[in-house]
Amino acid sequence: MAFLCLLAYLLVALPCANAAGWIYSVDGEPEWGYGGGSGSPFNWVTTFPDFCSGQRQSPINIDTETAKEVSFNFLNLQGFCSQDRPRHASLRVENNGHSVELHIHGDFFINEGGLPGKQYKVEQLHYHWGNPNAKGSEHAINGRKFDAEMHFVTYDTNYTSITEAKNHVDGVAVFAAMLQVGVNPHFEGSTLDEFISGLPSLGHKGDSYTLPKSQLKDLRGFLPDNIDWFYRYRGSFTTPHCDEHVIWSVWEQPIVIPQSKMNIFYNLYANNATDATQVRLMDNYRPLQEVNGRAILHSHRNNW
Ligand SMILES: [Zn+2]
Repeated sequence: MAFLCLLAYLLVALPCANAAGWIYSVDGEPEWGYGGGSGSPFNWVTTFPDFCSGQRQSPINIDTETAKEVSFNFLNLQGFCSQDRPRHASLRVENNGHSVELHIHGDFFINEGGLPGKQYKVEQLHYHWGNPNAKGSEHAINGRKFDAEMHFVTYDTNYTSITEAKNHVDGVAVFAAMLQVGVNPHFEGSTLDEFISGLPSLGHKGDSYTLPKSQLKDLRGFLPDNIDWFYRYRGSFTTPHCDEHVIWSVWEQPIVIPQSKMNIFYNLYANNATDATQVRLMDNYRPLQEVNGRAILHSHRNNW
């Protein structure tokens, strides 16, 4: 199926104001955010000490020279392309005040690729970005940051929900794709192009809409063309409570998007005000964390 999906993708889809200081509270929990003040990421370790002060935090800088080469099985995607898309699926995208998040409902799975669990169900994807003058990826590769970063969040189907899974070691697998501004002749009309082009209607916190089925060509279009080369390590969520039960896979190949599309992210707002008190949703990335001797693996392919 993975081959058919790839083949179908090649045939059909290829090319298939500073936010400083904004904070929020969910269900009475301590406020947190990305700017200064009490909600600053530098205060998460004291506000959420159970995990945010741990030794296996994310994001990290990935040193490719010291990464260990490993030959994993190919990642196997189920439901990602138009031929095997689940009959009952819906996708709802929301500006939640700290990102734009696509909630994915349906039988979409990622398997293999050296993941310890048998099957990982797709839950959501969201983005982190910087500002017009600064790059906003969370991870860095050899010290290099990218313009933005997409997180594709999945959980082990041994558990009934991501809420349960994140309490268990290896319960969650997050796949990260870097976004890099540049020239991409295949971008126009792609799945990602259509998705980002719709984001202006999510201008303020709380705005949401359901993607029309006609817009969703396939989930594969949110991922890099090459998903076989990635870096793998054990880390945490990059937002409170920073639970350390995440298997990270950081794809090596960035997704190249036009500057005009990147600018759409910079024009979103982190609150729902429409007057002078509105705050730009920018710089929603956590600073790099210490590696603390963790193993970083690199998926190695020498058979093609
Ligand atoms: Zn994230």
